[in-house]
Amino acid sequence: MAVVLLVEDNDDNRFIYRAVLEHHGYTVIEALDGQTGIAAARRHLPALILMDISMPVMDGLEATRKLKADPLTAGIPVVALTAHALKEDRARVEQAGCDAYIAKPVAPLHVVEVVRELIGPGEDRVGPESAP
Ligand code: MN
Repeated sequence: MAVVLLVEDNDDNRFIYRAVLEHHGYTVIEALDGQTGIAAARRHLPALILMDISMPVMDGLEATRKLKADPLTAGIPVVALTAHALKEDRARVEQAGCDAYIAKPVAPLHVVEVVRELIGPGEDRVGPESAP
């Protein structure tokens, strides 16, 4: 079962990304800022982290740098979610160690595409029609 950690302080965005990811078979855990995101990553070792950049307490850039500096979590792909589409912002995201980058506003299905590209599909949902 592919677990995705969603680190995002905006309630509406968390609701939407969680819904679309769960619909596509991923298990979603949530954190509301970079600091609790790091704690959740260390505890659950998710297959992938969706990381908002602008957050209180600790922003997504600092959280990503810390995750990538820790051997326990360094191998987990981090996908940055940011409202800033400028070239220098993209460079900052890459320098922090993010593996991919999605500029907001993010179409929910695009999130699924990027996640699937990096870690493969979520768990297949077996319907009654395909039972033996
Ligand atoms: Mn935010």
